[in-house]
Amino acid sequence: MSFIPSYRNISESEFKEKIQTLEDILSCCSLCPRNCHVNRIKGQKGYCRADANLFISSYGAHFGEEKILVGRCGSGTIFMTWCNLRCIFCQNYDISLQGIGEKISVEHCAEIMLHLQKIGCHNINFVTPTHYTPQIVKAIKIASEKGLNIPVVWNCGGYENTETIKILEGIIDIYMPDIKYSRIDTAEILSDAPDYFERCKSAVKEMFRQVGNIQIENGIARRGLLIRHLVLPCDFAGSEEIFNFIKNELSPETYVNIMAQYRPYGCLPVEINRRITRNEYLSVLEMARKTGLKNIIWDRILP
Ligand code: SF4
Repeated sequence: MSFIPSYRNISESEFKEKIQTLEDILSCCSLCPRNCHVNRIKGQKGYCRADANLFISSYGAHFGEEKILVGRCGSGTIFMTWCNLRCIFCQNYDISLQGIGEKISVEHCAEIMLHLQKIGCHNINFVTPTHYTPQIVKAIKIASEKGLNIPVVWNCGGYENTETIKILEGIIDIYMPDIKYSRIDTAEILSDAPDYFERCKSAVKEMFRQVGNIQIENGIARRGLLIRHLVLPCDFAGSEEIFNFIKNELSPETYVNIMAQYRPYGCLPVEINRRITRNEYLSVLEMARKTGLKNIIWDRILP
């Protein structure tokens, strides 16, 4: 295999420096745009509810992710407990909002990564990693020293602090952020984050600067940016503005997965308290095509 993950190329001192910088942030947390400024080292908790301990809810070879991540042997997903976004319609609310999970050490996390590699997974896929950035980077370093040699996927909600993403340069090979909404009102109602799109655009541009378009080797993504966008009823997400941003400020070649699986959970405004229709999905898909995006991954299970 010719591909070498980025984290195997950075120096020991650079890795240590990044970990130190991230751990320092934990004592006055600004890992994400919530900027809670709580001291997580001392046990304080901010919006995400995570302190300095690492909690995961599950891990394993996952076959429901994008084909270029799954290949034949699966994507090695590690689902992190809690979330910095806490969308009110979250399908994984037991993990993200109720905190279901198990406390593990960074050493144990590294062992899990090595196990996933051993069973053949093509990558390590951290799901909702943002609020655990320091612990995850530490675990990657330990796993790398013990032979980890597959790319790490940063599978995040898109509400990221660009400064945090900058620190991940040279460690993460595949960024897979959501771009959920362009509309300020929607972001405020559904995720209590009216600045979502502005923050997301800035962070995703930084991700693209680091890794560029997806590079595929033997059918498997090795490096690059892959964006997910979930279609909402009544175009509540403001999809067209998102596609224009991707095409004009990133690249028309960007891989964009347009997803149809929205299901209403929780207490929702009446307009979106239903599943999307087939026509709503197809019209958003057409919108993406008309914008000029060339690498659209579309859902084969339509409503
Ligand atoms: S990671 Fe959590 S504590 Fe830190 S700023 Fe974000 S929401 Fe607040």
